[in-house]
Amino acid sequence: MAILKVAQMGHPVLRKKAKALEPTEVRTAPFQKLIDDMMETMHEYAGIGLAGPQVHESLRLFVAGIEQPDGSLRVMPFVNPEVTPLGTVTTEDWEGCLSIPDIRGRVPRPDRIVVRALDRRGKPFEMELSGYPARVVQHETDHLDGVLFFDRMTSLASLTYLEEYSRFWRGHDEDND
Ligand code: ZN
Repeated sequence: MAILKVAQMGHPVLRKKAKALEPTEVRTAPFQKLIDDMMETMHEYAGIGLAGPQVHESLRLFVAGIEQPDGSLRVMPFVNPEVTPLGTVTTEDWEGCLSIPDIRGRVPRPDRIVVRALDRRGKPFEMELSGYPARVVQHETDHLDGVLFFDRMTSLASLTYLEEYSRFWRGHDEDND
C-alpha cells in the first residue's frame, strides 16, 4: 500500500466531474490497490472520507468511515454513488476537507439520505444514513461533481481556522441540529 498525494484547493482536478466506473473495472487489481491506498491515505491524514479527485484520480469513487449500529467505525469504498435526500429536514454542522487544510465551516445539508453505490466487488448496495455519516457521504459525493464544501455554505461567516475552531467552537456546537 502507499500514501497518496492529496490535491489541494486550486488544483483543477477538484473541479472536474469525475468519470463513472464499470463493475468489471472495479474488480481489476489496479483499482483494488487504489481503494486500499485511499484508505491508507485517509488514515494517514486522519480524515473521515477521501474521494478519487482528491488523490488526482478523476473517478467516481470515495472511501469513508461509516459508524455502524454497534458504534464501531467501518471504512468502506463507494463506487458510482448516487445520493437521494429523504424528508425535508436540513441540518447545519461543521465540515473540513483534506483538500482545504486547517479550515472549518458550517454547511447545511439534508439530514437523511439513501445512498446507492457499488462495493469493491462491483456489486450494488444501498444504505440509509442520517446525521454525521449522511453528511460525510454527501461531502464526498460532491467531490465527484467538482463541488467543495465552501460552495454549499449559505454564509461564509462561520469560516474559521482550525486553531480558532479549537479555541472557540469545538464542543460548543457538537450534535447541532
Ligand atoms: Zn473534502
